[in-house]
Amino acid sequence: MSRASNLYRLQDLDLTISQYQSRLSEIETILSDTEILTRAKIIFAEAKAKYQASQKHVRSAERLVQTQRNKIEKSERTLYGGVVNNPKELQDLQKEAASLKRYLSTLEDRLLDAMVTSEEAELQQQASAKELDRVTTQVTSKHNNLNAEQQSLQVDLQRLETEREAALVSINPDDLNLYQNLRQRVGNIAISLIQDGSCSACGLAQADSVQQAIRSGTELVRCGQCGRILYAG
Ligand SMILES: [Zn+2]
Repeated sequence: MSRASNLYRLQDLDLTISQYQSRLSEIETILSDTEILTRAKIIFAEAKAKYQASQKHVRSAERLVQTQRNKIEKSERTLYGGVVNNPKELQDLQKEAASLKRYLSTLEDRLLDAMVTSEEAELQQQASAKELDRVTTQVTSKHNNLNAEQQSLQVDLQRLETEREAALVSINPDDLNLYQNLRQRVGNIAISLIQDGSCSACGLAQADSVQQAIRSGTELVRCGQCGRILYAG
């Protein structure tokens, strides 16, 4: 193993480690984002509250209708009970009964409206419950997959860190320093492969003598243009 190939191996590990780390932080973000579930829960809670209120409304409309029917019954009992004989008084009672019936019809219309509204609210509640179920199942399954991926990545990452420790043993401190400084300066790729006689990072064609020096592997050879350490592969 040449000095450049040792560094190249280290770079390979570092690139994979950073890929795994960014995927792990991506997973962390996805797992913490439960907005879709929260929204479905809110919509369901609102639909449920609306349905409950509409049921209450129906019950109170039913009570008003019943009370009105009782009043009519009472008024008719007086009217036809034979207790009142005075024609003027009877006429007044008839008028009162007719007026009570008219209002009953208004109250019955209101009850019907309340029942229709309540049926609609019930359908809304059922639909939002179904949607909440669907979203919960979807989120749970997605999270299970991500949790599994997260665990496997963590295991792999631990293995890579161990391999990295082992790779460091064969790298001398000066080379490691240079590698780290280069990474800070030029980004993740500090060791550049030679492809078709050129630096694969910046494209500069390398002289035959340079390529020979790279292949001999005893020295670290750097690209004249981008400064990266060259590696023949
Ligand atoms: Zn270069």
